[in-house]
Amino acid sequence: MFVGHYGPAFAVKAAKRPPSLGAAFLAVQLVDVAWAIFVMTGIEYGRIEPGFMALSALRLDYMPWTHSLPGALAWSLAGMIVYRVFDPRGGWGAAMLIGLCVFSHWVLDFLVHAPDLPLTFNGMKVGLGWWDIPALGVGAEAIVLFVGFFLYLGATKPIAIAGRIAPWALITLFCGLYAFDKLGPAPANLKAAAPMALGAYLVIVALGFLLDRTRVSKSALQAKA
Ligand SMILES: [Zn+2]
Repeated sequence: MFVGHYGPAFAVKAAKRPPSLGAAFLAVQLVDVAWAIFVMTGIEYGRIEPGFMALSALRLDYMPWTHSLPGALAWSLAGMIVYRVFDPRGGWGAAMLIGLCVFSHWVLDFLVHAPDLPLTFNGMKVGLGWWDIPALGVGAEAIVLFVGFFLYLGATKPIAIAGRIAPWALITLFCGLYAFDKLGPAPANLKAAAPMALGAYLVIVALGFLLDRTRVSKSALQAKA
């Protein structure tokens, strides 16, 4: 899954003491950020195989450190602790939401991936394979993204005019990136695709921090009043 991962990051902004949106954007893709780095360095590997699944050409042979269940749990715990240390404003509540964001990645990948997600370090691989059923693959991604997005819009208020435009600009960008990912040319190999994915994830994190400055959480406003 790609843009659907951002649904939970938007959704946690509806919490009473929400974490930073930029940090939440990093959290939901933390497992893939690590994966891209590990693919570039050869620690994890896979292949591009056009036609592998209707919506994905990624044959992910070996990714125990990032996409195994114990791996994802470890990243979630680490994400929670690191967030608590570096941004203590929201306390353990916001840090726990960051941890949940990290773990949501594995759950959403489980829906769409072929059985390539190990339940142990590298054994008992699972995945429901919705990427092979386009209606389910596209539908799940769109529903998760837009439910989170509308929760976010409902729970926050624009500070100025930028706060009205920015969320829609970002969601349009997400739709464009998704279309390019699914309809654009397949990258030559996984080692070439990984830095592109990493770059996109990091730009989106920066946009999350920017968007966060244009809107304020309604619950934060109530707490002040
Ligand atoms: Zn993933």
